[in-house]
Amino acid sequence: MSKKVPITIAQGDGIGPEIMEATLHILSSAGAELEIFPVEIGEKVYLRGERSGIDPATWDIIRKTKVFLKAPMTTPQGGGFKSLNVTLRTQLGLYANIRPCVAYAPFVNTKHPKMDLVVVRENEEDLYVGIEYRQTATTYHALKMITRPGCERIIRYAFEYARAYGRKKVTCFTKDNILKLTDGEFHKVFREIALEYPDLVNEHWIVDIGAAKLADTPEAFEVIVLPNLYGDILSDVAAQIAGSVGLAGSANIGTNGAMFEAIHGSAPRRAGQNVANPSGLLLAAIMMLVHIQQFDVAENIHNGWLKTLEDGIHTYDIYKEGVSKKCVGTKEFAEAIVQRLGQQPHVLKPVNYKAGMPVLSPDKTHASQPLPKQEIVGIDLFIHFKDKITALQKKLAEVEQKIFTLAMIGNRGVKVWPGDPPDLPYVENWRCRFVSPRKGTAVSHQEIAKFLTQLAEKGIEFSHLETLCTFDGTPGYTLSQDEQ
Ligand code: NAD
Repeated sequence: MSKKVPITIAQGDGIGPEIMEATLHILSSAGAELEIFPVEIGEKVYLRGERSGIDPATWDIIRKTKVFLKAPMTTPQGGGFKSLNVTLRTQLGLYANIRPCVAYAPFVNTKHPKMDLVVVRENEEDLYVGIEYRQTATTYHALKMITRPGCERIIRYAFEYARAYGRKKVTCFTKDNILKLTDGEFHKVFREIALEYPDLVNEHWIVDIGAAKLADTPEAFEVIVLPNLYGDILSDVAAQIAGSVGLAGSANIGTNGAMFEAIHGSAPRRAGQNVANPSGLLLAAIMMLVHIQQFDVAENIHNGWLKTLEDGIHTYDIYKEGVSKKCVGTKEFAEAIVQRLGQQPHVLKPVNYKAGMPVLSPDKTHASQPLPKQEIVGIDLFIHFKDKITALQKKLAEVEQKIFTLAMIGNRGVKVWPGDPPDLPYVENWRCRFVSPRKGTAVSHQEIAKFLTQLAEKGIEFSHLETLCTFDGTPGYTLSQDEQ
């Protein structure tokens, strides 16, 4: 019986085919046991009319192999094309994006020679659920979605990763001083899960000052776990300051599969010239080998690659006069690594992959909690109204106040009623908070529907409704200052 592990590969666009060929050459020379299923994704697929950039038959192959090594691809210019990466992440449940950002000083130029950190980015939620609305001519909304299971999975993954790789500290970045419910939940779950890992130091930074610290003193961090958008931005910053985006690979680990890729794009201007650096894709492939438990092969390749860097054999993007010995092309760089398989670096720290990549067992991914008692106590309704606030108030006063009474009107996040409205430019989209006059009694959906009918009959136009709920009596919505 063959020990070969089935994997799907996509050559991608631009420099993709060259760096994939180089990577596969190194993998096979090192004795990786792989059964390779090539598929086509990206520009050609988009341009023949498949708006998602991937054919249905390709999906079947990826779902079957569950392991996908993907070269970068070009998203065609112009609108209407869906991001393939977002589709892959959501369809395969790729909840964790793992991006090691390591400096290779003195062989690769960097201002942060001691930098050696891993960004663990939540990969499915936050603003990346991609739910946006144009509510009025001038107003756009996007939904930032954070779930408790989503937080638990990624934060536990970060702690498991730290333990597996002998890291001592896990840092969480959020903006929970402003986003008290969404980022607040992420931070709360971080505090709870940290208690299960007393052997690891844990710390939290507000993302803005944390980002500044990361850019200035990256060696202060080991594993950073953070929500999707901050992770997207800061993992690029981290990769860049480590030395070169061309040197970073990433793993996307999920419930239904795993995908491995370089972090850079298809660099079309460099395509077909045998100049691209294959290191990002190679490091991604090494993470893939660890994932499929071919630890020795992964270790051999990684240490051979480090030795190649140490020997000063560099592609153009990292070549530096006085440090580098030889500027080589993609193929020659791959060959230099093959010649160094089995060798260890002397200055750079050799890797050890025996621990493997952490795999969360399904029962560890979401600790069930008793559900709180949820009750509706009001609604926030976004009302489209072009006239002044005084006219809006007058109009709303015409509506019967039995089910709800008007408690507050806001505009662009500022409370404008009750009290004197600040002298600000307003948009024609007003957030009107209605609460039940019967304190302590929950409001039903039938009552909400009846109230909306009353508004519609008065010609009041609304675009968005949120129910205001309490959870075991605690408000699950932001309160204006005089409601607190
Ligand atoms: P890019 O990362 O492709 O290239 C930017 C520059 O970085 C290049 O001009 C080149 O100088 C350098 N570079 C990048 N990778 C390199 C490598 N391996 N070796 C040497 N130099 C390298 O970014 P871009 O130009 O903004 O994007 C080009 C295309 O890639 C776009 O269509 C974009 O949508 C796509 N893209 C795809 C992915 C992906 O598939 N995961 C990620 C990012 C961008």
